[in-house]
Amino acid sequence: MYTIKNYCMVSSLEEAYELKKKNRNNTIIGGNLWLKMGSRNIMNAIDLSLLGLDQIEEDEEGFRIGCMVNLRQLEMDKGLNNTFCGIFSEAMGHIVGVQFRNCATVGGSIFPRFGFSDVLTAFLACDSYVELYHGGTVPLKEFTDMAPDQDILTHIYVRKDQRRVAYQSFRITETDFPVLTCAVARQEEAFSVVIGARPACARLVEGVSLSDPKSSDCRKAFAREVISRLEYGSNMRGSAGYRRELSEILIGRCLDRITEDELC
Ligand SMILES: Cc1cc2nc3c(=O)[nH]c(=O)nc-3n(C[C@H](O)[C@H](O)[C@H](O)COP(=O)(O)OP(=O)(O)OC[C@H]3O[C@@H](n4cnc5c(N)ncnc54)[C@H](O)[C@@H]3O)c2cc1C
Repeated sequence: MYTIKNYCMVSSLEEAYELKKKNRNNTIIGGNLWLKMGSRNIMNAIDLSLLGLDQIEEDEEGFRIGCMVNLRQLEMDKGLNNTFCGIFSEAMGHIVGVQFRNCATVGGSIFPRFGFSDVLTAFLACDSYVELYHGGTVPLKEFTDMAPDQDILTHIYVRKDQRRVAYQSFRITETDFPVLTCAVARQEEAFSVVIGARPACARLVEGVSLSDPKSSDCRKAFAREVISRLEYGSNMRGSAGYRRELSEILIGRCLDRITEDELC
């Protein structure tokens, strides 16, 4: 069971940051869905709800998403999903259920860098940046390699760059954690792939050439080269070998979507 001694509704990010860095037992609280499953003794739970960080703002360059935006907002946002081929609808839509997604936040999903994260996989497939209160703007692909610290994630920024993206995940049963997550992005003739739930944190693989996206031999060779660049592990949901096999299938399905779906 977890415990919280004080619940603090802060009135600025500075107040939240100063409080968080004072003591390791002071923690930001997002939707409290993950935290409440643990057994931490929290001294001060820091709630950012009053800071207006629950908005998705679009400008000409991209989308700025506040850390208190919930997963259902990502799933339903028309601008975001029209721009990125529905990837956020597809990635969020399998996470537990609507009531859950109405509460789980972007900050609570990205900052902990969960291995199983559909959310991280989808954002990594786009040109995404995290905005940290103290650490400034960091590309998401670099953020995934950084160790969690006392900073606060305030926003995530997704740049519009005309890429086409597709998302697939595989679960043993609907609403369970994924066995594997996969996203493929295409910018003109360059393809990149994100594989998550390996079971380690999602990784972006760039620079593998796919000479003929319509040829099944080229696609197989592409998928195998991507897989060879990643480390896979085993857990109760599947072995490393099973995940490698699944990766080839999911990469193939994503390639089907981004090469054949003219609407996207
Ligand atoms: C039963 C269950 C099933 C799940 N299944 C899936 C799944 O299939 N796919 C998937 O992708 N995810 C899944 N998740 C994870 C879920 O989607 C959320 O990512 C998770 O609940 C955390 O979000 P939250 O808002 O509840 O964060 P909280 O539980 O409130 O916080 C989580 C952590 O993030 C920190 N934090 C929160 N906000 C910030 C911030 N702005 N800056 C810095 N640190 C912050 C907190 O201090 C805490 O350490 C599941 C979670 C649960 C509990």
